[in-house]
Amino acid sequence: MSTYPIVRDLLAQLIAFDTTSRLSNLALIEWIEHRLEPLGAVCRRIPNKEGTKANLWVRIGPDVPGGIVLSGHTDVVPVDGQDWHTDPFALTERDGLLYGRGTCDMKGFVALCLAYAPAFANLNLSKPIHFAFSYDEEVGCQGAPDMIAQIVAHGARPDAVWVGEPSLWQVVSGHKGIMVTEVDVYGHEAHSSSPYLGVSANGIAVDLMSVLRRIEKELAEQGPPDSPFDPPYPTLTIGEIRGGTAHNILARHCHFGFDLRCPPGFAPDAILAPFFAAVDAANEDLKLRFPESGVAVHRISNVPPLAPDPDNSAERLVRALTGDNALRAVAYATEAGQFHAAGLPSVICGPGSIDQAHKPNEYIDPAQLEQGVVIFDKLIEHLSAGG
Ligand SMILES: [Zn+2]
Repeated sequence: MSTYPIVRDLLAQLIAFDTTSRLSNLALIEWIEHRLEPLGAVCRRIPNKEGTKANLWVRIGPDVPGGIVLSGHTDVVPVDGQDWHTDPFALTERDGLLYGRGTCDMKGFVALCLAYAPAFANLNLSKPIHFAFSYDEEVGCQGAPDMIAQIVAHGARPDAVWVGEPSLWQVVSGHKGIMVTEVDVYGHEAHSSSPYLGVSANGIAVDLMSVLRRIEKELAEQGPPDSPFDPPYPTLTIGEIRGGTAHNILARHCHFGFDLRCPPGFAPDAILAPFFAAVDAANEDLKLRFPESGVAVHRISNVPPLAPDPDNSAERLVRALTGDNALRAVAYATEAGQFHAAGLPSVICGPGSIDQAHKPNEYIDPAQLEQGVVIFDKLIEHLSAGG
């Protein structure tokens, strides 16, 4: 009998938890624990500092090194301001598609993991299957690092980390690293007729952003032509700017944010060195004139890249199960880069298309879940053959 109806039912239950990143995911975590603990699975929560959210690291099978990590995030992006035609937190089938927030990114993969947990538990495994379910992935992969550190500190040393982000079950071998930075510039208000009596935060911000623009243009000339990344060079874009209140007031505050996306082999800090030098110089100058003015730089996130490695055991496993042998790299970051940076072979492959992720009326085609059932059935076969 196909496992699909179970996967669909689990997906419906997962979607019903509103786990938008700003909210707690603990109700969902507890629900998963209640399902898995009776199977003999060992569940460990790795909470955030405030205790309001948690990663869940689950082990099925013996406590020995090796085995496979199936990784997925439990949080979803907000639906605020989006035009949904169905309740985003109630799985709805319409025209043969399954609608709901997180259906493709990425509760579909989590539902598959849970649906197969009893089969994993029945296998008498010689090496464990781990689930690594994280929080705060959608706000810069901020939850997983503590869990990865604990997996490494425990000596679990899995052979393969399989991150089930939506890829239409295509094997994705690499992604760029993403560093997100926000900047607050504080000036000193004065009438625009007498600019020497104050400092415009907007003016300072424009100076700093022009340094970033120069870096951006230099970066566009780099990157090998045979790179799997599109574009092959690091990109730097300023996604938000807010500053000032009126044309005739020197702005007291200006905020801007930028993201830097680097293929493997580039050093983000070195790339940004001219920007940080400009920040230091501006701070020195501003503090002398108005002590309350200055520039504050906040690093919001820094997800390392995933370097393609065709010999890695995670890629070999997932290629064998899916039959996909193409080389692909993407420009969005995932927790695979973080597992990879911890020395664990990692690959991305999961149900649904990234094109539907983060949008209103997010959906997954049930055929994607059916294909997942075929792939997970093969995984069970592979494991029972002692793989
Ligand atoms: Zn995702």
